[in-house]
Amino acid sequence: MKLDAYRDKRDFAATPVPAGQEKEVPPERERTHGRFVVQEHHARHLHYDFRLELDGVLRSWAVPKGPPEEPGIRRLAVAVEDHPLSYIDFAGTIAPSQYGAGTVQIWDHGTYLLEEQKAGELRFVLHGVRLRGPYALVHMRPQGKNWLLFKRQTQ
Ligand code: MN
Repeated sequence: MKLDAYRDKRDFAATPVPAGQEKEVPPERERTHGRFVVQEHHARHLHYDFRLELDGVLRSWAVPKGPPEEPGIRRLAVAVEDHPLSYIDFAGTIAPSQYGAGTVQIWDHGTYLLEEQKAGELRFVLHGVRLRGPYALVHMRPQGKNWLLFKRQTQ
């Protein structure tokens, strides 16, 4: 199942993060606009988890330097395991013994319009508080985990 990698890493008796379900149903509006979240994660190394609601899960990338707010800046985004939709609201403290130990806070959230999805590339428009406008995620190599996240030039 899609969430196996997520579940295999975590002990849900000991961590505050949701176990989630395979078939979580997003709100009605998500048929055209999905939701996204950016979670600021003070783990061993600070990073920003960028997550898009897609195909019933949160497709997820860890962005060490955070998503760019302006065009012209390309940020490394490392693909990580799909997370359950219910993770979209998670903020809190994960104990030192648990996977992802540290604090998680919501850095930005909103909806997005998926414009194009093809092999190794997603193009979308973010409607967040901090992040607004056209963005892209581009896979650097077919088998790797590294993507680039950037804000596209308008016009
Ligand atoms: Mn993280």
